Amino acid sequence: MFSDIDQLLYYPYYCIAAVIATLILIIMYFIKRNYPTKRNKLFLTLIIYNLAASAVNILSIFTISFPEKYPAWFRYGCNMVYLFLYNTIAVMFLLYVNNLVNISKLRKPVYIFATSVWFFEAFVIFSSPWTHFVSYYDDDLIYRHGPLMVSLYACAFVLVMSSIGLYLLVHKKFNFYQTFSITGFVAGIILCVMFQAYNPRIVITNFICAMALFFLYSAFENPAYYLYGDTSCFNRHAFVVEVNRLRKKKEYSVIYVKASESEDIIYSLRREGREKLAERMAERISGEFGREAFCIDVGVLTVVVEHPFNMDRYLNRIRKCFDEPYAINTDVDYNLISVKPVIAVIPVKGEPADGQEMLELIRNAEEEFNQELTYINDTGRRVAAIRREKELLHVLDNAIINHGFEVYYQPILEAESNRFVCAEALIRLNDEKLGFVSPEEFIPIAEKNGRIGDIGEYVFREVCRFVKESNITSLGVKFIEINLSPVQCKKKGLALTLINILREYDVDPQYINLEITETAEVENNILDRLNELMNNLHEKGIKFALDDFGSGFAALDYLIKLPADVVKIDKGILWHAFQEEASMIILRNTIKMVRDIGKKIVVEGVENDEMADVLKECNCDYLQGYLYSKPLPESEYVQFMEYYGDK
Ligand code: C2E
Ligand code: CA
Ligand code: CA
Repeated sequence: MFSDIDQLLYYPYYCIAAVIATLILIIMYFIKRNYPTKRNKLFLTLIIYNLAASAVNILSIFTISFPEKYPAWFRYGCNMVYLFLYNTIAVMFLLYVNNLVNISKLRKPVYIFATSVWFFEAFVIFSSPWTHFVSYYDDDLIYRHGPLMVSLYACAFVLVMSSIGLYLLVHKKFNFYQTFSITGFVAGIILCVMFQAYNPRIVITNFICAMALFFLYSAFENPAYYLYGDTSCFNRHAFVVEVNRLRKKKEYSVIYVKASESEDIIYSLRREGREKLAERMAERISGEFGREAFCIDVGVLTVVVEHPFNMDRYLNRIRKCFDEPYAINTDVDYNLISVKPVIAVIPVKGEPADGQEMLELIRNAEEEFNQELTYINDTGRRVAAIRREKELLHVLDNAIINHGFEVYYQPILEAESNRFVCAEALIRLNDEKLGFVSPEEFIPIAEKNGRIGDIGEYVFREVCRFVKESNITSLGVKFIEINLSPVQCKKKGLALTLINILREYDVDPQYINLEITETAEVENNILDRLNELMNNLHEKGIKFALDDFGSGFAALDYLIKLPADVVKIDKGILWHAFQEEASMIILRNTIKMVRDIGKKIVVEGVENDEMADVLKECNCDYLQGYLYSKPLPESEYVQFMEYYGDK
């Protein structure tokens, strides 16, 4: 057949190249282990359709070029099959993009749209022998296009444009290379069609499709994305997909296994050794449970099992995987590693977590896991907390951008003069949807997620503006206390930022008193950092208070090491003192001790006269609490001071 190649009406070379390229792609696809997702199955279908379309196209070219050698029905059949395969690629592409972008509201409508178009195309193509819709042989046996041929072009155009439109809706989720691959696919095909119109003999489209599929492969479908390092063990991405898939199933359990104790050894193994160990562990666990084990971190594996189940039996089965040491053979050395597993079971019932939530749940709970079995019995509550945190974080971000916070002021009484000479600035967040959110809830979230710097700066700015605009000295206010989170203090350059804000508003630093809370932070240089910051700002005239004194573990350490001017005793200590004699003794002596070392004392949470009397009797300097006033919005605080200021 190739001897007659010069007589061909169309050049098949690009189609042959397309067949070869697509075959290579199929080999690449199968060479590594694939985590089976719907998306990569769709991708495989796309490749196979392109392979089939290219092959049938070659056949078609030959049959058309040598009509005398092939019967008309065969030529016609080849042509129709080619048209069908070729048009199916656009349908598959839309289904693929639909799966990729995964927009829940659009998923079903797009699926219905794509499959309807597909059925329409199949109908017009395969009914053509009778209806002549797409093409037919006329009475003189000349090949002619039917009235609906143009509809196939229109369908392909609409499908491809819908794909790109769908992708652009969420393109921010993807990186530049991924966007380039998708848009390149579409642009390539459109350019091809235009090229084809001018050079009908050079049949290039399937080849361009094959090239575009290579881009899609490397941008989205590389199986390595789901594999842990160089192993054949699935990784955390695969675990996320697995958990997402299980969302429809209401009950199952995640078993978490961590190679511990030998952690140092694991880290001392090089990357290759660590990966081999993970692979071996996964093999044993998968072998034992007949289910996939995922390596979600160094030495950490998860396996998803049926639920409910017999705990002890499962536990023994996991432990069995670790009875024998692991032989890890790498290029450079050989290690025999005995692994003691830390095991945790996370049952999922009712409202199921999605994959990311499950990873976060594990990350948050990891500290609780120990060599004994840890059974998480409040998965639902934890998932709810993760969701709430995510929601709040979103609200916080909006509030940061739109200045959605407010600063309230709680007056503080000076015991000696019986006047309200200062106030504590307290942040407030009132969200349209969530309503009032307590700072007790959102400040820790802001601290954990790196938003506290912005929030702290906002409050500091607001207070400076207030001090400048309202001329507080005339109201009898000597200073305002502002809470400064220790997490915020970790940021370098904080002192300078604060000083610059003071300058910007032309506020004398003596009006500002910063309250610092003890932190559970393990970082041991936090005290040094705080010390440096406090000294820096002290020089400029800002004063400091130790907030919530007595509520943490390191109170005395803070008291000794930090140059604070004021100590603020935690309200919990005060309240306890009025319930129990021993606590009263602690309170009285704490106050005495702090006074003896020459620092001023504030007690917060003063709710009744009895408390106030005792505190005054102990010579507390300042009292703060609902007895005098709740925290007030700025204008009400000004009114409060206008009324009580001189009294
Ligand atoms: P905190 O620094 O200990 O602030 C004192 C809290 O006690 C305030 O709660 C205040 O409204 C409340 N309080 C004062 N007197 C009484 C009383 O007599 N009875 C009762 N039941 N409560 C009283 P709030 O405003 O809800 O703030 C909670 C915490 O949120 C604060 O505790 C502080 O740690 C944090 N926070 C508030 N604003 C800020 C801020 O601007 N920056 C930072 N970093 N943290 C803030
Ligand atoms: Ca405070
Ligand atoms: Ca406090």
